[in-house]
Amino acid sequence: MKRNPPASSKLGFAWAKGDWPLACRAMKVFVTGGAGYIGSICVEQLLDAGHTVVVFDNLSEGHRSAVDERAMFIEGCLSDRETILNAVASNQPEAIMHFAANALVGESMTNPSKYFRNNVANGINLLDAAVEGGVRKFVFSSTCATFGVPETMPMTEALPQNPINPYGESKLIFEKLLRWYQELHGLEFVALRYFNAAGASEKFGEHHRIETHLIPNVLKVALGQAKECKIFGTDYPTPDGTCVRDYIHIIDLAQAHMLAMEPGKNGYYNLGNGEGYSVRQVIETCERVSGKPIPAIEEPRRPGDPPRLVAGAQKAIDELGWKPQFASLDQIVESAWRWHQANPNGYPD
Ligand code: UDP
Repeated sequence: MKRNPPASSKLGFAWAKGDWPLACRAMKVFVTGGAGYIGSICVEQLLDAGHTVVVFDNLSEGHRSAVDERAMFIEGCLSDRETILNAVASNQPEAIMHFAANALVGESMTNPSKYFRNNVANGINLLDAAVEGGVRKFVFSSTCATFGVPETMPMTEALPQNPINPYGESKLIFEKLLRWYQELHGLEFVALRYFNAAGASEKFGEHHRIETHLIPNVLKVALGQAKECKIFGTDYPTPDGTCVRDYIHIIDLAQAHMLAMEPGKNGYYNLGNGEGYSVRQVIETCERVSGKPIPAIEEPRRPGDPPRLVAGAQKAIDELGWKPQFASLDQIVESAWRWHQANPNGYPD
C-alpha cells in the first residue's frame, strides 16, 4: 500500500520518522461527523495512512474547513433517511466510522430529547444504510459515560454500565443496537469507549462554537481570551476535591480506529491512558506548558459529572494492538496549546 507522509510530521512526534504502523490494507471509509473535532483528526490520519475517505456531516457542530481537503465531502443529516441510504449505497465503503453525535453531558441533562433523537434514532438510519450498502465494518465512537459512577477503578470492560446522564444512556443504547445488527445482519462492529479526548494534530484541533471542555477553556485564559477559568465542583471525593479524568491524545484515538478496521476485530473497548488527572492538575499543566498564569474560580458541581473516570485499556492493547504514543498529559496539552496559538479563533467557519 502506498503511504503518504503524515501531514502532521512537523510536530516532531515519534511517528513523523515514518514508523507509523499500518493498520490494514487501504480501504474506502465513510466517516460521519468528519468535520467535528475527533472525526476531523481521524480523517486526516486515515488519509495519511493511505485510505480513501468520504465525510458525511451536517456542519451543525463541525466546520467545513476542518474537513481534510483530500477527503470527499457530503453535507447531509443522519435524520434524512433517504440521503444517508443513498450516500452509503453510492459510495460503497468497506467501513463506516460513526462520530456524528451530540456529546455534552451538561446539555444532555437539560435537553435529553436531542440526545436520544440524534444519537439513537438518527443513528439507526446509518445502521440501516450500512446493512443495505453491504458495509463490512462499523466503528462506533462510544464513551466512558456509558458506565456512570464506576464501582472499581481502573474501569475495564467488565464493569456494569449504569449511565447517570442521557448522553451516556444514548451511547449505551447504540452499543446495544450494534450487537443486534451484528447478530441479525452480520454487521461486524467495534465500539470504542473514549475517556477524555484532547490535544491536536498540526492542522486540526478542538473548536466548538460553544466550548464546554476543560482543556480548551483553560487555554483560553493562557491565550488572553478569558480572565479566568472555572472549576466545577471542589467537594468531590478525590484527593484535591475536583473531578479526575483520563485524558487521551486524539492521534492515539485515531490509531485505535484504524486498528479496529482490521478484519476479525470485534466488540467493545475502553480507551484511555490509565492515569487520572484532576481539574486542578490540568490547570497546573496548562500553566506550565503555556508559561502563563491561569487564574481559576470555584463554581458548584456540574450536573451529571461522575467524580473519577480512569480507563483500564489492557483489552485494547492486547486485542487491537493499540500502542498510545502521546500518553503524558504534558504532550497532550502541548499539542493543544500549539494548535490554539496557531489558530486563536479556531476555524474560520
Ligand atoms: N470542567 C471544569 N471547568 C470547565 C470545563 C470542565 O471544571 O470549564 C470539569 C468538568 O466538570 C469535568 C472535567 O472538567 O469534571 C472534564 O470536563 P469536560 O467537559 O472537559 O469533559 P467530560 O468529562 O464532561 O467529557
